[in-house]
Formats: sequence, structure tokens, C-alpha cells
Amino acid sequence: MIKTNIEKVLDNAEKLNEELNSFLSIEREHASARAAELDANAAELPLKGVAVAVKDNICTKGMQTSCGSRILHNYKAQYNATAIDRLNAAGAVVVGKTNMDEFAMGSSNESSAFGPAKNPWDTSRVPGGSSGGSAVAVASGVVRAALGSETGGSVRQPASLCGIVGFKPTYGRISRYGLVAFASSLDNIGIFGKTAKDVAGVLGVIAGRDELDSTSADVPVPDYLATIDNDIIGKKIGVPRALYGEGLDEDVREKVEQAIENYRQMGAEIVDVELPHAKYGIAVYYIIATAEASSNLARYDGVRYGFRAENTTALREMYFKTREEGFGAEVKRRIMLGTYVLSSGYYDAYYSKAQKVRALVKQDYQKAFTACDAIITPTSPSVAFKIGEKSDDPLAMYLNDVYTVSANLAGIPGISVPCGLSSDGMPIGLQLTGNFWSEGALLNLASVYESQFPLEAKPQIFAE
Ligand code: GLN
Repeated sequence: MIKTNIEKVLDNAEKLNEELNSFLSIEREHASARAAELDANAAELPLKGVAVAVKDNICTKGMQTSCGSRILHNYKAQYNATAIDRLNAAGAVVVGKTNMDEFAMGSSNESSAFGPAKNPWDTSRVPGGSSGGSAVAVASGVVRAALGSETGGSVRQPASLCGIVGFKPTYGRISRYGLVAFASSLDNIGIFGKTAKDVAGVLGVIAGRDELDSTSADVPVPDYLATIDNDIIGKKIGVPRALYGEGLDEDVREKVEQAIENYRQMGAEIVDVELPHAKYGIAVYYIIATAEASSNLARYDGVRYGFRAENTTALREMYFKTREEGFGAEVKRRIMLGTYVLSSGYYDAYYSKAQKVRALVKQDYQKAFTACDAIITPTSPSVAFKIGEKSDDPLAMYLNDVYTVSANLAGIPGISVPCGLSSDGMPIGLQLTGNFWSEGALLNLASVYESQFPLEAKPQIFAE
């Protein structure tokens, strides 16, 4: 009975949410009705009855889509994102919308206007971000799969910090229609799963060309589940040694080195590769992402969506007050940075230069992928940190993304897979990135790893 299962998921979501704050809305009425409908439907569907949690920046008709922001508080989407339509058609059940850093800007969930989600391994720590709520919903055992979004690592990093699988596709693989824009040339919908197979099941359903997103690619969608258990003997895994230096926690280094050794033992060939421009990734990302954000977020003016400031008498005053009261500090910081790097006096020095370096980052990958099938690095330089530890230091926060942003700059796919625990019992993730359209190969490498070297431990807070 799908209905019974879904009721159980909803009960768990409600029960755990008091402590974890991973859902911004739990859609009991919608989900129960859907479940009953599916029970009455005899058709075989690939995700029939599978409960999915969805990040609150992906439009879900009739449900809240707040982007973790006061400015969209209680805003209800008028239509479904293509990914949601496809999930529904495959029989999945959206059970709720998940917490996130405001407009997906952040690496800890602390910039959510509704308080941070908490890490189920230790609730005094962050779950990562920006898709932290979706990561927690999966890590705490409420759902097996969830949608998130990725602009610079927002699925892979929280997956790593919460001990689950997090996946970012090739740019254009999954339609962005209905994903609220942050930085359009970097944005992707990403997928969390308890396992790589969970991710593959969802990806197979939501990937593919969509007429409603001109940047979605017309590339055939393979059967990811059919190749996920393939032998990995002879697969070449590249190690960019220069990225294993400064700023990397000892625990993380040790576990990822062990993972490399484990891959070698499973028959993969380990080769050295170089990504000489990766060190500019953070600088380039925070110029391009903020530039695009400053433009995309101009639409929140108090007229068309959500929140509007009260007691104003003139139009400009209403715009100013709405944006001042509606946006949080991090979003304002990004809009200001982005406006600055695009201003006529600085455009060449910052934005235009960043675009050139972005091309070099991409070229590095293209060269590296002539010598290997995938590149292995840590996903995040540290395990989950304490809530409050980095919230006053934006630069320290931005450095969380050192290993993830370059895949978004290049447009290539990446995946984070758990590879052990730190000495204080927090999960660590390894990251694999691959060439364009190599998601099948990445899922295969990830799945084989997790079946040979599963993370045995469970988070402190876990749904029964
Ligand atoms: N943490 C990065 C940022 O703050 C990435 C965010 C994302 O991928 N949405 O911009």
C-alpha cells in the first residue's frame, strides 16, 4: 500500500522536523491524495510510490516555493518545474519542500530566513548547503531521494557533510525550467540519494531535452541503472595532487587517500592529472555567480511576487524597502558584489577576466579527461562545522566550495560518495568528476565503491 508508506514518511518528516528543521513545508494533504491515486492506478511506473523531498527553489504547483527567503515567504508556485512534472509522471510523490540557504547562496544553511537545518549526525553542526534540507531529509532516513540545486556545489557538499550520495549532472542534462534562477550559466538541478542507485533511478526519469528550457540538451538519456554495476577494472582515475595541499583537513585527506587505494584494489588504474587553473575557481566563481545573481534577483521588487514592504507612499520607496526588508545579509552582499563587478569601470577587470579564466578551467578538464575517466578529490575540505563557526566570515565560508565550484564553471558532472568518518565521527565524502555526459560512468564508479566500502554507521537522528 503506497498510502500507508507515504503516511509513515509524512509522520517521520513531522516528527524529526522539530529537531532537524529540514522541511519548510510538509505537504500532507497533497501527498496523501497522490498516494491514494497511485494505489488505485494499476499501471507500472518506474518510481511508483517513491517519496521525494524537493528543495524550496524548485517550483511545485500550489505548494510553497520560498527559496529560503522572506521575500518569497508563502509564495506558491503557479506551475511545476519540468523535473517535478516528470517525477509525477513516473509515480513519485513529493512529500515536502526543504530548507535551504536563501536563494541557494551559502554552504551551511545558515542564510535561510527560516533558521538552519541541522546535521542529523550532530545537531550542533551544519548540514552544509545550500541544499542542506534535502540532504538532511535523506540522511535522516525520511526519504530515499531528494532534489536539490547546484550552482557551485550545493548538492555535493551537503551530501558529503551528511554521509549520503549527492550528484550534479552535466549542464543541460536536466531541464532548469521551474528552478528559480540564481546564476543561470552555473545552475543545475541535482539529486540526493541514499545510494547511487537511488540517484540513477531519479536521473533516468528527469533527464533529457525539454522544449521549455533552451539550454537543455538534446542528448539521448541512457539507462543508467543498466550499467551501474559494471566492472570498473581498468578504469582510469585521475588524481590532481596539487589540490591535496593547503587547507585540507587531515582526517579528510586520510580517508580520500584510502579511497584512492580502495579504487586501485578494485582494479582501477590511478594516474596523475593536473588542473592548473583550479586554484582560481573560487575567485572566478564568486565573480560570475554574483554578477548573474545581481541580474536574476532584480525581479524581486514587491510587485510581482511574495513579500511587499508596508507603509510606503512612493514606488521607488516601496522597491527599496521591500528589498531591504525582504533579502537577508548574504543575498545583499552578493547583489552588491555582482553589481560592482559588472559596473562599467570594473567590467573588464573582473567579469570579463573571470570569463576568460572560466574557459581555461574548462580546458584543463578537457585535457585531463584525455588521460582518465574520472577525477577524484575530496568533496569538501572539512567535515561539518559547528553552527555559527563561520557565519561571520564570508571568505571562510566561500572556501568550503574549493573542490566543487570548478565542475560548475566547466559544466561537467560530479558526484559525492561517503568514504568514511572523521575521528570525531562525522562523515567524509569523496568527489568524482567526469567529462560531459559521463554521468553513467560516474554513477557506476560511485555505486561499486559504496557496495564494496559501505558507510556502516548511522546518524544519531534517524527515522525508524
Ligand atoms: N556555496 C556556494 C555559494 O554559496 C554554492 C551554492 C550553490 O551551489 N547553490 O554560492
